Amino acid sequence: MFMKKQDFRTKVIHGEATHYKDPYNSLVPPIYQTATFTFDTAEQVERRFAGDEEGPIYSRLGNPTVQMLEQKMAVLEEGEAALAFGSGMGAVSAVVLSLVNAGDHILCSKGVYGCTFGFLNMLHEKFNVSHTFSNLTNELEIESQLSNYTTCIYIETPINPTMQLIDLALVVKVAKKHKIKVVVDNTFSSPYLQQPLLFGCDIVLHSATKYLCGHGDVIGGIVVSDESYIEELSKTVRKDIGAIMSPFDAWLLLRGLKTLAVRMDRHCENAEEIVNKLSEHPKIESIVYPFSSSDQQLAKKQMKQGGGLITFSLKNGSKKTAQKLMNELNLIKIAVSLGDAETLIQHPATMTHAVVGEEERERMGITENMIRLSIGLEAWEDIWNDLEHALQKV
Ligand SMILES: *Cc1c(COP(=O)(O)O)cnc(C)c1O
Repeated sequence: MFMKKQDFRTKVIHGEATHYKDPYNSLVPPIYQTATFTFDTAEQVERRFAGDEEGPIYSRLGNPTVQMLEQKMAVLEEGEAALAFGSGMGAVSAVVLSLVNAGDHILCSKGVYGCTFGFLNMLHEKFNVSHTFSNLTNELEIESQLSNYTTCIYIETPINPTMQLIDLALVVKVAKKHKIKVVVDNTFSSPYLQQPLLFGCDIVLHSATKYLCGHGDVIGGIVVSDESYIEELSKTVRKDIGAIMSPFDAWLLLRGLKTLAVRMDRHCENAEEIVNKLSEHPKIESIVYPFSSSDQQLAKKQMKQGGGLITFSLKNGSKKTAQKLMNELNLIKIAVSLGDAETLIQHPATMTHAVVGEEERERMGITENMIRLSIGLEAWEDIWNDLEHALQKV
Protein backbone atom coordinates (compact mmCIF):
# COMPACT_ATOMS: atom_id res chain seq x y z
CA MET A 1 0.00 0.00 0.00
CA PHE A 2 1.36 3.42 -0.92
CA MET A 3 1.63 5.70 2.11
CA LYS A 4 2.73 9.29 2.00
CA LYS A 5 5.64 9.94 4.33
CA GLN A 6 4.18 10.68 7.75
CA ASP A 7 4.73 13.86 9.66
CA PHE A 8 6.82 13.62 12.85
CA ARG A 9 3.72 14.40 14.94
CA THR A 10 2.09 11.27 13.54
CA LYS A 11 5.19 9.13 13.77
CA VAL A 12 5.57 9.69 17.53
CA ILE A 13 2.20 8.00 17.89
CA HIS A 14 2.18 5.39 15.12
CA GLY A 15 5.78 4.85 14.10
CA GLU A 16 6.50 1.70 16.02
CA ALA A 17 6.98 -2.04 15.83
CA THR A 18 6.03 -3.57 12.55
CA HIS A 19 7.39 -7.05 13.18
CA TYR A 20 5.56 -7.62 16.45
CA LYS A 21 1.92 -8.64 16.24
CA ASP A 22 -0.02 -8.78 19.47
CA PRO A 23 -2.36 -11.80 19.61
CA TYR A 24 -5.14 -9.68 21.20
CA ASN A 25 -4.61 -6.55 19.07
CA SER A 26 -3.93 -4.56 22.20
CA LEU A 27 -3.72 -0.84 21.36
CA VAL A 28 -0.96 -0.27 23.91
CA PRO A 29 2.06 -2.60 23.84
CA PRO A 30 2.30 -5.27 26.56
CA ILE A 31 5.12 -5.25 29.11
CA TYR A 32 7.14 -8.43 28.69
CA GLN A 33 8.34 -8.48 32.28
CA THR A 34 10.42 -11.61 31.96
CA ALA A 35 14.11 -12.40 32.23
CA THR A 36 14.08 -15.37 29.90
CA PHE A 37 12.05 -17.02 27.11
CA THR A 38 11.33 -20.71 26.67
CA PHE A 39 11.68 -22.91 23.59
CA ASP A 40 9.74 -25.81 22.12
CA THR A 41 12.85 -27.68 21.10
CA ALA A 42 16.58 -27.53 21.70
CA GLU A 43 17.15 -27.05 17.98
CA GLN A 44 15.06 -23.89 18.04
CA VAL A 45 17.39 -22.32 20.63
CA GLU A 46 20.33 -23.26 18.46
CA ARG A 47 18.72 -21.49 15.48
CA ARG A 48 18.06 -18.34 17.54
CA PHE A 49 21.60 -18.19 18.89
CA ALA A 50 22.92 -18.66 15.37
CA GLY A 51 20.69 -15.81 14.17
CA ASP A 52 18.82 -18.08 11.72
CA GLU A 53 15.53 -17.43 13.46
CA GLU A 54 14.20 -14.14 14.87
CA GLY A 55 12.93 -13.92 18.41
CA PRO A 56 13.95 -13.33 22.01
CA ILE A 57 16.24 -15.57 24.05
CA TYR A 58 17.08 -13.69 27.24
CA SER A 59 16.18 -10.09 28.14
CA ARG A 60 19.78 -8.84 28.34
CA LEU A 61 20.12 -9.75 24.65
CA GLY A 62 16.77 -8.27 23.67
CA ASN A 63 13.23 -7.88 25.02
CA PRO A 64 10.10 -7.34 22.88
CA THR A 65 8.85 -4.27 24.82
CA VAL A 66 12.32 -2.69 24.71
CA GLN A 67 12.58 -3.51 21.00
CA MET A 68 9.34 -1.65 20.31
CA LEU A 69 10.88 1.44 21.87
CA GLU A 70 14.08 0.90 19.86
CA GLN A 71 12.13 0.69 16.61
CA LYS A 72 10.20 3.83 17.40
CA MET A 73 13.36 5.78 18.22
CA ALA A 74 15.00 4.62 14.97
CA VAL A 75 11.98 6.00 13.09
CA LEU A 76 12.02 9.30 14.99
CA GLU A 77 15.75 9.93 14.49
CA GLU A 78 15.59 8.80 10.83
CA GLY A 79 18.09 6.03 11.56
CA GLU A 80 18.05 2.35 10.56
CA ALA A 81 18.12 0.89 14.05
CA ALA A 82 18.37 1.79 17.73
CA LEU A 83 19.43 0.31 21.04
CA ALA A 84 18.12 1.15 24.51
CA PHE A 85 20.26 1.41 27.64
CA GLY A 86 19.64 1.59 31.37
CA SER A 87 20.71 5.24 31.48
CA GLY A 88 22.01 8.04 29.29
CA MET A 89 25.48 7.31 30.66
CA GLY A 90 25.01 3.64 29.74
CA ALA A 91 24.49 4.83 26.16
CA VAL A 92 27.36 7.36 26.24
CA SER A 93 29.86 4.88 27.68
CA ALA A 94 28.79 2.06 25.35
CA VAL A 95 29.18 4.21 22.24
CA VAL A 96 32.53 5.67 23.26
CA LEU A 97 33.88 2.23 24.27
CA SER A 98 32.78 0.79 20.94
CA LEU A 99 34.75 3.44 19.01
CA VAL A 100 38.13 3.46 20.76
CA ASN A 101 41.05 1.18 21.46
CA ALA A 102 43.74 1.87 24.05
CA GLY A 103 45.83 4.84 22.88
CA ASP A 104 43.16 6.37 20.63
CA HIS A 105 42.02 9.99 20.68
CA ILE A 106 38.58 11.67 20.80
CA LEU A 107 37.85 15.23 19.68
CA CYS A 108 35.03 16.78 21.75
CA SER A 109 32.86 19.83 21.73
CA LYS A 110 34.10 22.32 24.33
CA GLY A 111 31.61 21.39 26.98
CA VAL A 112 29.99 18.04 27.66
CA TYR A 113 27.70 16.62 30.32
CA GLY A 114 29.50 16.34 33.67
CA CYS A 115 29.53 12.53 33.83
CA THR A 116 30.57 12.26 30.17
CA PHE A 117 33.55 14.38 31.19
CA GLY A 118 34.17 11.99 34.09
CA PHE A 119 34.00 8.97 31.79
CA LEU A 120 36.46 10.54 29.30
CA ASN A 121 38.89 11.14 32.18
CA MET A 122 38.50 7.55 33.35
CA LEU A 123 39.32 6.30 29.84
CA HIS A 124 42.38 8.53 29.82
CA GLU A 125 43.67 7.33 33.16
CA LYS A 126 42.98 3.63 32.63
CA PHE A 127 43.47 3.09 28.91
CA ASN A 128 45.38 6.15 27.66
CA VAL A 129 42.46 7.20 25.47
CA SER A 130 42.98 10.95 25.23
CA HIS A 131 40.55 13.72 24.37
CA THR A 132 40.75 17.34 23.25
CA PHE A 133 38.06 19.96 23.73
CA SER A 134 37.54 22.05 20.63
CA ASN A 135 35.44 25.02 19.57
CA LEU A 136 34.79 23.08 16.33
CA THR A 137 34.11 26.36 14.56
CA ASN A 138 36.27 26.10 11.45
CA GLU A 139 37.66 23.42 9.20
CA LEU A 140 41.35 24.22 9.63
CA GLU A 141 41.05 24.36 13.41
CA ILE A 142 39.31 20.97 13.49
CA GLU A 143 41.89 19.40 11.17
CA SER A 144 44.75 20.72 13.27
CA GLN A 145 43.28 18.94 16.29
CA LEU A 146 42.99 15.54 14.65
CA SER A 147 45.72 12.92 14.88
CA ASN A 148 46.21 9.51 13.31
CA TYR A 149 44.67 8.10 16.45
CA THR A 150 41.48 10.18 16.39
CA THR A 151 38.58 7.78 15.94
CA CYS A 152 35.59 9.98 16.68
CA ILE A 153 34.28 13.49 17.16
CA TYR A 154 31.91 13.66 20.11
CA ILE A 155 29.47 16.58 20.14
CA GLU A 156 26.77 18.11 22.25
CA THR A 157 24.73 20.83 20.56
CA PRO A 158 23.35 22.89 22.22
CA ILE A 159 26.19 22.37 24.71
CA ASN A 160 25.17 21.76 28.30
CA PRO A 161 24.87 24.28 29.99
CA THR A 162 26.38 27.08 27.91
CA MET A 163 23.83 26.56 25.11
CA GLN A 164 26.42 27.19 22.38
CA LEU A 165 25.75 25.44 19.07
CA ILE A 166 28.07 23.30 16.95
CA ASP A 167 27.70 23.36 13.18
CA LEU A 168 26.85 19.73 12.43
CA ALA A 169 27.32 19.99 8.65
CA LEU A 170 30.78 21.52 9.07
CA VAL A 171 31.97 18.84 11.50
CA VAL A 172 30.58 16.08 9.26
CA LYS A 173 32.41 17.51 6.25
CA VAL A 174 35.79 17.31 8.01
CA ALA A 175 35.05 13.97 9.64
CA LYS A 176 34.07 12.31 6.34
CA LYS A 177 37.30 13.51 4.75
CA HIS A 178 39.28 11.80 7.51
CA LYS A 179 36.96 8.78 7.89
CA ILE A 180 36.15 9.59 11.50
CA LYS A 181 32.77 8.89 13.11
CA VAL A 182 30.64 11.76 14.40
CA VAL A 183 28.63 11.11 17.57
CA VAL A 184 25.96 13.57 18.75
CA ASP A 185 24.37 13.69 22.18
CA ASN A 186 20.95 14.98 21.10
CA THR A 187 19.40 15.03 24.58
CA PHE A 188 18.75 18.79 24.67
CA SER A 189 16.83 18.94 21.39
CA SER A 190 15.11 15.58 21.02
CA PRO A 191 14.49 14.42 17.44
CA TYR A 192 11.53 16.80 17.22
CA LEU A 193 13.86 19.80 17.11
CA GLN A 194 17.04 18.35 15.60
CA GLN A 195 17.88 15.19 13.64
CA PRO A 196 21.68 14.88 13.42
CA LEU A 197 21.65 11.76 11.21
CA LEU A 198 20.06 13.84 8.43
CA PHE A 199 23.18 16.05 8.54
CA GLY A 200 25.39 13.01 7.97
CA CYS A 201 26.34 12.31 11.60
CA ASP A 202 26.95 8.61 12.25
CA ILE A 203 25.57 8.00 15.72
CA VAL A 204 22.97 9.85 17.80
CA LEU A 205 22.48 9.19 21.47
CA HIS A 206 20.13 10.41 24.17
CA SER A 207 19.61 10.52 27.84
CA ALA A 208 16.01 9.27 27.46
CA THR A 209 15.54 10.44 31.05
CA LYS A 210 14.90 13.96 29.78
CA TYR A 211 12.57 15.05 26.93
CA LEU A 212 11.98 11.57 25.47
CA CYS A 213 10.44 10.45 28.76
CA GLY A 214 9.10 13.89 29.64
CA HIS A 215 7.65 12.91 32.99
CA GLY A 216 10.73 12.54 35.16
CA ASP A 217 10.00 8.93 36.10
CA VAL A 218 12.53 6.94 34.07
CA ILE A 219 16.33 6.83 33.81
CA GLY A 220 17.22 5.56 30.34
CA GLY A 221 19.40 5.94 27.28
CA ILE A 222 19.07 5.42 23.52
CA VAL A 223 21.55 5.04 20.66
CA VAL A 224 20.44 5.37 17.02
CA SER A 225 22.60 4.62 13.99
CA ASP A 226 22.86 2.31 10.98
CA GLU A 227 21.93 -1.33 11.24
CA SER A 228 25.41 -2.83 11.21
CA TYR A 229 26.71 -0.55 13.97
CA ILE A 230 23.68 -1.18 16.18
CA GLU A 231 23.90 -4.94 15.68
CA GLU A 232 27.58 -4.87 16.62
CA LEU A 233 26.89 -2.74 19.71
CA SER A 234 24.08 -5.05 20.76
CA LYS A 235 26.21 -8.18 20.43
CA THR A 236 29.26 -6.73 22.16
CA VAL A 237 29.25 -3.80 24.60
CA ARG A 238 25.58 -3.87 25.60
CA LYS A 239 25.41 -7.64 25.96
CA ASP A 240 28.70 -8.00 27.84
CA ILE A 241 28.67 -4.87 29.99
CA GLY A 242 24.94 -5.17 30.38
CA ALA A 243 23.57 -1.64 30.87
CA ILE A 244 20.14 -2.70 29.60
CA MET A 245 16.78 -0.97 29.96
CA SER A 246 13.98 -2.68 31.88
CA PRO A 247 10.77 -3.60 30.00
CA PHE A 248 8.71 -1.36 32.30
CA ASP A 249 10.96 1.65 31.66
CA ALA A 250 10.69 1.01 27.91
CA TRP A 251 6.90 0.92 28.28
CA LEU A 252 6.88 4.23 30.15
CA LEU A 253 9.07 5.75 27.45
CA LEU A 254 6.75 4.47 24.70
CA ARG A 255 3.93 6.13 26.59
CA GLY A 256 5.82 9.40 27.09
CA LEU A 257 6.97 9.58 23.46
CA LYS A 258 3.40 9.83 22.16
CA THR A 259 3.22 13.39 23.46
CA LEU A 260 6.78 14.42 22.54
CA ALA A 261 5.72 16.80 19.75
CA VAL A 262 2.96 18.42 21.80
CA ARG A 263 5.24 18.78 24.81
CA MET A 264 8.17 20.20 22.83
CA ASP A 265 5.96 22.83 21.21
CA ARG A 266 4.83 24.01 24.65
CA HIS A 267 8.37 23.86 26.13
CA CYS A 268 9.57 26.05 23.25
CA GLU A 269 6.68 28.53 23.38
CA ASN A 270 7.09 28.92 27.15
CA ALA A 271 10.86 29.31 26.86
CA GLU A 272 10.51 32.04 24.23
CA GLU A 273 8.17 33.99 26.51
CA ILE A 274 10.54 33.67 29.46
CA VAL A 275 13.55 34.67 27.31
CA ASN A 276 11.67 37.82 26.25
CA LYS A 277 10.80 38.69 29.84
CA LEU A 278 14.30 37.97 31.16
CA SER A 279 15.94 40.06 28.45
CA GLU A 280 13.91 43.10 29.51
CA HIS A 281 14.75 42.64 33.21
CA PRO A 282 17.31 45.09 34.67
CA LYS A 283 18.94 42.50 36.95
CA ILE A 284 19.84 40.12 34.10
CA GLU A 285 23.36 40.34 32.69
CA SER A 286 23.12 37.78 29.87
CA ILE A 287 20.88 35.08 28.45
CA VAL A 288 21.81 32.24 26.15
CA TYR A 289 19.03 30.66 24.12
CA PRO A 290 19.56 29.23 20.60
CA PHE A 291 17.16 31.43 18.65
CA SER A 292 17.99 34.68 20.42
CA SER A 293 21.78 34.53 20.62
CA SER A 294 24.65 35.07 18.20
CA ASP A 295 24.13 31.52 16.95
CA GLN A 296 20.77 32.41 15.40
CA GLN A 297 21.67 31.55 11.82
CA LEU A 298 23.12 28.22 12.78
CA ALA A 299 20.09 27.54 14.97
CA LYS A 300 17.81 28.10 11.98
CA LYS A 301 19.93 25.79 9.84
CA GLN A 302 19.80 22.77 12.11
CA MET A 303 17.06 23.23 14.71
CA LYS A 304 13.32 23.55 14.33
CA GLN A 305 12.87 25.66 17.48
CA GLY A 306 15.08 26.70 20.38
CA GLY A 307 14.05 24.09 22.97
CA GLY A 308 13.18 24.44 26.64
CA LEU A 309 16.54 25.30 28.20
CA ILE A 310 17.66 28.80 29.08
CA THR A 311 20.96 29.75 30.65
CA PHE A 312 21.31 33.18 32.22
CA SER A 313 23.40 35.14 34.67
CA LEU A 314 22.69 38.00 37.05
CA LYS A 315 24.30 41.44 36.93
CA ASN A 316 27.15 41.54 39.46
CA GLY A 317 26.17 37.99 40.25
CA SER A 318 28.07 35.31 42.14
CA LYS A 319 27.50 31.81 43.45
CA LYS A 320 25.81 33.43 46.46
CA THR A 321 23.31 35.51 44.46
CA ALA A 322 22.55 32.56 42.16
CA GLN A 323 21.79 30.40 45.19
CA LYS A 324 19.75 33.19 46.79
CA LEU A 325 17.63 33.50 43.64
CA MET A 326 17.00 29.76 43.62
CA ASN A 327 16.05 29.75 47.30
CA GLU A 328 13.42 32.43 46.70
CA LEU A 329 11.48 30.35 44.15
CA ASN A 330 8.28 28.52 44.98
CA LEU A 331 6.78 27.00 41.84
CA ILE A 332 10.11 26.36 40.14
CA LYS A 333 11.91 23.42 41.72
CA ILE A 334 15.65 23.17 42.43
CA ALA A 335 16.80 19.99 40.71
CA VAL A 336 19.26 18.57 38.20
CA SER A 337 17.69 16.91 35.16
CA LEU A 338 15.57 18.61 32.53
CA GLY A 339 12.75 18.07 30.07
CA ASP A 340 10.08 17.44 32.68
CA ALA A 341 6.58 18.90 32.96
CA GLU A 342 7.81 20.87 36.01
CA THR A 343 10.08 23.87 35.52
CA LEU A 344 13.45 23.06 37.10
CA ILE A 345 16.35 25.30 37.99
CA GLN A 346 19.95 24.40 38.71
CA HIS A 347 23.36 25.97 39.32
CA PRO A 348 25.81 24.17 37.00
CA ALA A 349 28.99 25.10 38.89
CA THR A 350 27.79 23.41 42.09
CA MET A 351 25.37 20.86 40.61
CA THR A 352 25.59 19.23 37.14
CA HIS A 353 29.18 20.37 36.50
CA ALA A 354 30.58 20.24 40.05
CA VAL A 355 32.52 17.10 39.10
CA VAL A 356 34.26 18.92 36.24
CA GLY A 357 36.50 21.03 38.49
CA GLU A 358 36.99 24.79 38.50
CA GLU A 359 39.74 25.10 35.91
CA GLU A 360 38.02 22.97 33.29
CA ARG A 361 34.68 24.67 33.98
CA GLU A 362 36.31 28.00 33.22
CA ARG A 363 37.61 26.64 29.92
CA MET A 364 34.11 25.38 29.09
CA GLY A 365 32.71 28.84 29.83
CA ILE A 366 30.75 27.77 32.90
CA THR A 367 30.82 30.60 35.43
CA GLU A 368 29.85 30.66 39.12
CA ASN A 369 27.18 33.13 38.15
CA MET A 370 25.46 30.89 35.59
CA ILE A 371 21.96 29.52 36.19
CA ARG A 372 20.15 26.99 34.01
CA LEU A 373 16.39 26.78 33.69
CA SER A 374 14.53 23.84 32.20
CA ILE A 375 11.21 25.39 31.28
CA GLY A 376 8.26 23.11 31.99
CA LEU A 377 4.72 22.85 30.72
CA GLU A 378 3.03 25.18 33.22
CA ALA A 379 1.39 28.45 32.11
CA TRP A 380 4.41 30.64 31.27
CA GLU A 381 2.84 33.54 33.20
CA ASP A 382 3.06 31.52 36.42
CA ILE A 383 6.68 30.56 35.70
CA TRP A 384 7.49 34.24 35.10
CA ASN A 385 5.66 35.42 38.23
CA ASP A 386 7.76 33.06 40.32
CA LEU A 387 11.00 34.17 38.66
CA GLU A 388 10.16 37.86 38.81
CA HIS A 389 9.31 37.61 42.49
CA ALA A 390 12.66 35.89 43.20
CA LEU A 391 14.56 38.44 41.06
CA GLN A 392 13.17 41.24 43.24
CA LYS A 393 14.78 39.58 46.28
CA VAL A 394 18.33 39.36 44.96
C1 LIG B 1 21.35 13.74 31.68
C2 LIG B 1 22.29 13.76 30.56
C3 LIG B 1 23.13 12.66 30.29
C4 LIG B 1 23.19 11.43 31.19
O1 LIG B 1 21.98 10.75 31.19
P1 LIG B 1 21.46 9.83 32.42
O2 LIG B 1 20.16 9.34 31.90
O3 LIG B 1 21.34 10.71 33.61
O4 LIG B 1 22.47 8.76 32.61
C5 LIG B 1 23.95 12.73 29.17
N1 LIG B 1 23.95 13.83 28.36
C6 LIG B 1 23.18 14.90 28.61
C7 LIG B 1 23.23 16.07 27.69
C8 LIG B 1 22.31 14.90 29.71
O5 LIG B 1 21.56 15.97 29.95
